Amino acid sequence: MILVDNIRKSYGALEVIKGVNFEVKKGEVVCIIGPSGSGKSTILRCINGLESYDSGVISFDGVTVDPSDRSIAGIRTHLSMVFQRFNLFPHRTVLANVTEGPVQVKRESKEKSRKLAVELLTKVGLGDKLDAYPQNLSGGQQQRVAIARALAMRPDAILFDEPTSALDPELVGEVLAVMRDLANEGMTMIVVTHEMGFAREVADRVLFLESGVIVEEGPAKDLLRNPKHERTQDFLHRVI
Ligand code: ADP
Ligand code: MG
Repeated sequence: MILVDNIRKSYGALEVIKGVNFEVKKGEVVCIIGPSGSGKSTILRCINGLESYDSGVISFDGVTVDPSDRSIAGIRTHLSMVFQRFNLFPHRTVLANVTEGPVQVKRESKEKSRKLAVELLTKVGLGDKLDAYPQNLSGGQQQRVAIARALAMRPDAILFDEPTSALDPELVGEVLAVMRDLANEGMTMIVVTHEMGFAREVADRVLFLESGVIVEEGPAKDLLRNPKHERTQDFLHRVI
């Protein structure tokens, strides 16, 4: 579904992605781990066309991801992204945050969008917060709204960029639980995370990225329990 073929990207003289290759099949959950500044967010942003890349090819369902091409709008409706900072509309209710995409982007009816939004908010445990405003919710609740909003586009895949990093520790679990449910339902996901427990339990594969290079990749259990490369070992010793 997602193919990343030898992409490179520089910001000015600084090359931050140095020939990265991987693919994600339908229904797979791939976690990307690695130190701060290694290029994890840049890769996700390139995949959904928020950022251009200099060489190589990214494709989604066979369509080349090119931020300067009209096709990018279509790709984005099939590929949702959830950010570290939830990016909810502050002056809209929870319900309106979730119906916004389907109504504005997909031109779905208000009634149909509302029905779906209520269903999704109930699924993430916020069926009683439809009329609340983001500022009155905890960080964990806001991130669950953001996930419901991503799901409202009925995406084929979701990219998560450190979805729990901005949360107080006691709120991390409720967000990971929602993501785990999605994975179990077969959603295709790429998750940048420092939650190694989540990666071990939920990911099919883990990629360890350092300085814009995939140093090691493999099945989650192998890579996290028995990393082969010294750099991966060092990183895991530091985070676990
Ligand atoms: P990560 O998500 O792994 O922490 P990023 O993808 O955010 O890493 O960043 C990778 C590198 O690219 C870092 O050195 C960062 O400073 C640099 N970088 C990211 N975005 C920009 C930008 N818009 N302009 C210049 N440099 C950037
Ligand atoms: Mg990042």
